[in-house]
Amino acid sequence: MRTPTDVQFVLGRRAERLDAEARTVDLDDGRTLSYDVLVVATGLTPRRLSFQRDMAGVHTLRTLDEAGDLRRGLRSARRVAVIGAGVLGCEIAATARGMGLPVTLIDPAPVVMAGRLGDELGARVAALHRRRGVRVRTGVGVASLIGTAGRVSAVERADGERVPADLVVLAIGSTPATGWLDGSGLSLSDGVECDSRCRAAPGIYAVGDVARWHHQALGRSIRLESRTNATQQAIAVAADITGTGSPYTPLPYFWSDQYDVKIQIHGTIAPGSRIRPIEGRPGAMRFAAVAELDGTPVAAIGWNHPRAVMAARRQVMDALRSGTASVGT
Ligand SMILES: Cc1cc2nc3c(=O)[nH]c(=O)nc-3n(C[C@H](O)[C@H](O)[C@H](O)COP(=O)(O)OP(=O)(O)OC[C@H]3O[C@@H](n4cnc5c(N)ncnc54)[C@H](O)[C@@H]3O)c2cc1C
Repeated sequence: MRTPTDVQFVLGRRAERLDAEARTVDLDDGRTLSYDVLVVATGLTPRRLSFQRDMAGVHTLRTLDEAGDLRRGLRSARRVAVIGAGVLGCEIAATARGMGLPVTLIDPAPVVMAGRLGDELGARVAALHRRRGVRVRTGVGVASLIGTAGRVSAVERADGERVPADLVVLAIGSTPATGWLDGSGLSLSDGVECDSRCRAAPGIYAVGDVARWHHQALGRSIRLESRTNATQQAIAVAADITGTGSPYTPLPYFWSDQYDVKIQIHGTIAPGSRIRPIEGRPGAMRFAAVAELDGTPVAAIGWNHPRAVMAARRQVMDALRSGTASVGT
């Protein structure tokens, strides 16, 4: 039986090339590692703006070092602009506002977090931020970052409006970190493409944010960006490697903490979904609801209601099991 001492850590090095036929991975220090089974878990790379220049005061947030830089920057910042009103951007805006800083949240989409929450709940999140004093500037994108003496001083929107800021956070999404797999023969299309057991090729798996796999219950390929998925998928892959696996069919889940609100979503709020409250009413500080598409529950929604969201989740699971759900990506 293998023991934990069989684990060899190679930290501080990048994988640079995969040779799937020879079953080897080249590292950036010139070494080549061989494997019987490879698990690709390289996560995401934050997107950059095409016109982005390196300027002091401009941050992205993915790694621990970046988190430390951002925390130090926020302590001395006078005005903050967050570009990108997705989950990460909204959470950063809430944190900066909680530190008492003036914050502007900018996104070309008309509604914040619309991709994850849909228009109705996204509008509630925008209202939450506005109540807390965040300037929410949606519907117009960013044209440039303005700098003075190598430090950012403002964000210019496409309509010419200048948003003064000495700290800017770019939270405009991320792309799967698959560059090192180019030319490996793996199918790469918004992630490493896998079958229902997260197998990308013989002896190769992918897990976590980088993995796009065929979700058998939903009948299509999906990729999830959440910590719980990374953990569950890793367990599913480990089971498959050791011969006890089965198709990986989780109900997508994510949560977001902003100010004193915990939002929990089990499933996917597909475009065009109708929100049906099951406890409390949307707009209250605490409610739970089900998002329905053509009458079929596709997502459970909890707004400061971790107990009732589980009842909503059961409705979604029942629909999924009965095979009538058409959960969106
Ligand atoms: C600021 C922030 C807040 C978040 N908050 C939440 C939350 O509240 N809830 C939630 O569910 N999820 C949250 N997430 C998402 C969650 O962190 C990710 O879904 C999760 O970390 C994915 O795990 P992973 O192992 O797939 O990728 P990662 O955790 O990104 O790990 C990938 C690793 O691969 C390494 N790597 C990349 N390329 C190479 C290479 N070529 N060679 C070797 N190593 C490489 C990277 O350095 C990294 O260590 C958050 C993410 C961020 C950035």
